[in-house]
Amino acid sequence: MKALWRILTARMIRRRQAVRATTAKTLLRTGTTTAVLVGTGGPMPSQRAQSCTALFANGQFLLFDAGDGAARRIEALDLPLGQLRAVFLTHYHADHFADLGEIIDRSWILGRRHRLPIYGPEGVEQIVNGFRAAYEREYSYRTAHHGPAVMPPEWSAAQAVAFDYDKDGEATQVYAADGVTVSAFAAQHPPVEPNVGYRIEHAGKVIILSGDTLPTAGLLEQSRGADLLIADVMAMDAVRQIQAANEAGRNDATAQIMRDIRDYHISAEALGTLAALAQVKCLALTHLAPPVDQTLLVNGLFKRPIAAHYSGKIVVGRDGTRIVVAR
Ligand SMILES: [Zn+2]
Ligand SMILES: [Zn+2]
Repeated sequence: MKALWRILTARMIRRRQAVRATTAKTLLRTGTTTAVLVGTGGPMPSQRAQSCTALFANGQFLLFDAGDGAARRIEALDLPLGQLRAVFLTHYHADHFADLGEIIDRSWILGRRHRLPIYGPEGVEQIVNGFRAAYEREYSYRTAHHGPAVMPPEWSAAQAVAFDYDKDGEATQVYAADGVTVSAFAAQHPPVEPNVGYRIEHAGKVIILSGDTLPTAGLLEQSRGADLLIADVMAMDAVRQIQAANEAGRNDATAQIMRDIRDYHISAEALGTLAALAQVKCLALTHLAPPVDQTLLVNGLFKRPIAAHYSGKIVVGRDGTRIVVAR
């Protein structure tokens, strides 16, 4: 008789495979559009993975930013990483690209059989080439060990796709495939340049990803009537309190950082006003600063100040939050 642990292990593996297959089938169904907030944190320490949003549109798996913890979270959520089509970066703060090397490597190991395009404004080549250099030995060992049929060397590394965009005007289309388009528009996060937000369209549905930004006329225009706005948000008073606590504790450098960062993110109040003016149908919060989890704090710092201006649907993102835009 087989040992009990063997039976249990086999059952566990079968269950996990079944969940993965169902998740992939649901998300990759043609005609549907679903956003998954993979990582909803930013640079402030927390249990949340850093910036990363997955978008499944008409059978295509697109990823927007890949901060620290993104690859692990994608796997924990059973998202079909081997079928990743393309990655889009908003800007080059590390909390938006730190896990890019793992995303490229693991998607290849899990079956990706095309060169993964990494879209971004000028500077994306530097990021992608840097990861390629860092992972060169890793790729070669995998191919040497498992053979080129399982680990084809031609698909290991990614391909940087740099684009230009209009600094103060319309969105620029950077990707189009099977009825899905992605356009980039200028975001304001000084001194970070270049920096963009993204507009994703499929079958008349519009999803806006703000990126890290102050409220801008461009973001308002892009968001008008959007089905979903996924936005960066900062609770200014709470960050001010963290600054004060650090001043009291003589942590001068941290206190200064807490003062500086308040000038390049959108406040909850401003985001509520923008969402109301734009009449977005659903507002999802990501990149929460500070990255609190307790319901009391989430409601007090984010939900209530936004709801004071905006009466539409508010989704406070947690890692793994799924929002179905078209089914
Ligand atoms: Zn950020
Ligand atoms: Zn940033």
